[in-house]
Amino acid sequence: TTAAPEPAARAIRAPRGPARTAKSWGAEAAKRMLMNNLDPEVAEHPEDLVVYGGTGRAARSWAAYDAIVRTLDELEPDETLLVQSGKPVGVFRTHTWAPRVLIANSNLVGDWATWPEFRRLEQLGLTMYGQMTAGSWIYIGTQGILQGTYETFAAVARSLGRDDLSGTLTLTGGCGGMGGAQPLAVTLNGGAVLIVDVDESRLERRVAHGYLDVHTTDLDAAVARVIAAKDAGEALSVGVVGNAAEVFPALLARGVPIDIVTDQTSAHDPLAYLPVGVSVDEWRARAEADPVDFTARSRRSMAAQVAAMVGFQDAGAAVFDYGNSIRAEAELGGFDRAFAFPGFVPAYIRPQFAEGRGPFRWVALSGDPDDIRKTDEAVKALFPENAALVRWLEKAGDTVHFEGLPARICWLGYQERHLAGLRFNEMVASGELSAPIVIGRDHLDAGSVASPYRETEAMADGSDAIADWPLLNALLNTASGASWVSIHHGGGVGIGRSIHAGQVIVADGTPEAAEKLARVLVNDPGTGVMRHVDAGYPRAAEVARERGLQVPMW
Ligand code: NAD
Repeated sequence: TTAAPEPAARAIRAPRGPARTAKSWGAEAAKRMLMNNLDPEVAEHPEDLVVYGGTGRAARSWAAYDAIVRTLDELEPDETLLVQSGKPVGVFRTHTWAPRVLIANSNLVGDWATWPEFRRLEQLGLTMYGQMTAGSWIYIGTQGILQGTYETFAAVARSLGRDDLSGTLTLTGGCGGMGGAQPLAVTLNGGAVLIVDVDESRLERRVAHGYLDVHTTDLDAAVARVIAAKDAGEALSVGVVGNAAEVFPALLARGVPIDIVTDQTSAHDPLAYLPVGVSVDEWRARAEADPVDFTARSRRSMAAQVAAMVGFQDAGAAVFDYGNSIRAEAELGGFDRAFAFPGFVPAYIRPQFAEGRGPFRWVALSGDPDDIRKTDEAVKALFPENAALVRWLEKAGDTVHFEGLPARICWLGYQERHLAGLRFNEMVASGELSAPIVIGRDHLDAGSVASPYRETEAMADGSDAIADWPLLNALLNTASGASWVSIHHGGGVGIGRSIHAGQVIVADGTPEAAEKLARVLVNDPGTGVMRHVDAGYPRAAEVARERGLQVPMW
């Protein structure tokens, strides 16, 4: 074998079009989506195999990446590749209905599920951090989070008794892979937003991709601009370079009229949050040299940031945790009122989960944006009565800049997703679309995650930490015909704090794909309805009854 080229010299880009080199579309799609995750247009730090979310990786090493790509090209249509934390570890004979890839990332036995132990094992080369869609090869760039963020801010507006966010000012932190969706989500809702990031290159990237209007290093100028926009009822996003642990308290002290406060720095991993007093240039070296001291410092900084967030809440602002564990980390950093504000799921999202609604996404393997345009039209035609969905697809069509392979996301529920999947399959079969479509979702979904600080915070029956549900979800998707299935630990909230599962399925236009789509895309969101019926949510029980989901003991 030849040595892998220097990582820096690599620029990965997934092949496009209808011709494949793998022996099945399942394997070809997995390979292209792995590559797409590492496309420099998509990944935050592709040279380190980091896709998003702090250190969320697509493969454990470049050697592992090469071996996965090679194995997928050689994989028979009745074989399954097993991937253990980003490393291909075995190929087994299964059958054509079985997934082509099964993935387990970052999982640790309970008592060992701590960051120091994870890092020790990572240093030994035995594991990697998979985040949610990084190690399961279905990240689609910042758009992946855009609609969920847009929906969340729309729900915030409703909770404030408003039709939209015009005339309001939002403050947030973190303009990275996921957090970078926040400014556009606020402006699509008509509001003004100030977003703080320590790393100017992240703000520049969002401006280049159309997610952020402008950025500056001058806090006074930034504040003046967003206040003017708020007063004029204009939608405007301004990025400011700074440390949120300093900027948030400073804005509170100045009495800036902020209506909504949240944060999406990579707080779930204390080494991926920059403490006050450390520069961006020294960040990595300092974190590596003394992770224990760095962790203590970053937790103290998070405590200062969260104390300011609670201060804004005390002053009347709507404040929520945006799924990055910042409350838990701030509490560890010594701030005892960190949980004074809620997480976004119980505050805004749970009613959707009870209906099996969640982030459904698809990707055109052709590479042709026109294929996504056609699928947008198809989804609008399937659900014309869903005004919010139609509005979203129109806005997304106009504003979303594709990163890597063209893709789309929208939230669909139980007994809805398969209608879209089957329609796409017909469009591939008829030649209306020029190559197969990959259909997947975030692990953040109705039935696929146990995460007491996020998706399952404050469940009605107290079942927040029960992790059987995501495992059942993964097993059911495997049994139903998904193309690849993954089980991860940690995700967006960090080691020890969540277990979650993902599925991806390919619509290649064949009758067999239609059979699989009709099962996977019903059963997968069905586990979300089941989980919420079991926890005692009346709306979930209604949905189960109306849409024919069997729940034996209900
Ligand atoms: P990322 O690592 O790509 O970006 C994080 C950004 O935070 C970086 O740009 C970094 O420069 C900035 N940052 C770090 N410390 C800072 C500080 N002290 N002050 C200001 N900026 C600072 O991560 P991401 O993909 O954007 O994810 C952000 C967080 O959101 C993660 O914790 C992730 O797990 C979580 N997340 C939440 C959801 C959700 O649905 N709510 C989904 C995915 C990820």
